[in-house]
Amino acid sequence: MSELKGVTSIVFPARDLDAGVAAWTAMLGEEPAFVGEDFAAFGGGVDVALSALPWVDHPLVFWEVDDIDDAQRALVARGATPLGEIADGSLADLGTADVTNGDPATGIVDVHGLIESYRREAEDHGAMVALDHAATALDRGPDGWRVSVRSAAGQASEITCTWLVNAAGLDASRIAALAGLDVDALGLRQRPCKGDYFVLAPKHAQIANHLVYPVPVHAGLGVHITFDLAGRVLAGPDTEYIDQLRYDVDPAKAAAFGAALRRYLPDVADDDLAPGYAGIRPKLQGPGDAFRDYVIAEASRHGAPGLVNLVGIESPGLTASQAIADEVDRLITA
Ligand SMILES: Cc1cc2nc3c(=O)[nH]c(=O)nc-3n(C[C@H](O)[C@H](O)[C@H](O)COP(=O)(O)OP(=O)(O)OC[C@H]3O[C@@H](n4cnc5c(N)ncnc54)[C@H](O)[C@@H]3O)c2cc1C
Repeated sequence: MSELKGVTSIVFPARDLDAGVAAWTAMLGEEPAFVGEDFAAFGGGVDVALSALPWVDHPLVFWEVDDIDDAQRALVARGATPLGEIADGSLADLGTADVTNGDPATGIVDVHGLIESYRREAEDHGAMVALDHAATALDRGPDGWRVSVRSAAGQASEITCTWLVNAAGLDASRIAALAGLDVDALGLRQRPCKGDYFVLAPKHAQIANHLVYPVPVHAGLGVHITFDLAGRVLAGPDTEYIDQLRYDVDPAKAAAFGAALRRYLPDVADDDLAPGYAGIRPKLQGPGDAFRDYVIAEASRHGAPGLVNLVGIESPGLTASQAIADEVDRLITA
């Protein structure tokens, strides 16, 4: 079994989270580092945390181990029962019908349909959408921003605006630089990180009836099982930092994908995997760096008032898109 490195956190049940936070703030003499809807955490040598989830009815002790898979296998071999949280907030044995049915709140969306619905909603509220116009220069004047754009046909024009929201995805660092920001000094330099998908052979169409996520790896969520709208089973994405944007999927990676999948789907062979497609994440976290989250920030304090930068918007940027829009709205109307 992996060597147990020591206790890292203890989560106590807290039926009334506010009262629990007040009591532990007084006990520890410090404010919580995080307070959410049903969870709060205090820092320190061993983190103390409080959970209002119904199944947390006794203290939970978290240990650090060298290898979580080894530790889990060793515990199960010694008679432990692996449990998962299910939709009603209770626990069930992993592998039972309740867990296999998964959480009904997770799933897949038609990405282009979602984007199209946002476009329609924006236009219904008076927005004008100019597709195929690339922003090439930004100037800040007394009345706001002047954005120079060039159409796909090469025609140049200008757009003026009071607020400028930089949501340029992989181009967001460059747009921030065009607005005069020192992206390296401000930690806004994005690193393209490619993620490839492989398609499982049709014989595996029933291999899972919900998304399956392993424990996350350094720069990504780990090779997980998902589906497309045509019902194909996809495995991916991996993580590969790249210098030049490219979207090829190297068939030779089937061996690495097969090995990653067999950790939780032992029946998948390497030749059951065919190259699918690739996407590129605009990550703020470079190779070997500590975790970096999105940046959603207004740039007044960096000399660019009226500019809101959305930088490093990688997964789950789509899932979080409405919340991100709410945050931009909050910054603009603040
Ligand atoms: C492999 C992979 C898997 C993912 N899986 C998930 C997932 O399961 N769930 C999830 O929620 N998210 C996922 N994501 C993340 C999600 O796709 C992104 O977070 C989301 O697309 C970001 O949206 P965005 O509008 O910020 O950027 P983008 O979708 O990149 O849009 C930016 C737009 O700006 C335009 N643009 C760029 N430069 C200029 C310019 N100079 N002038 C004018 N326009 C410009 C681009 O053409 C583009 O249309 C995944 C991403 C990858 C790469």
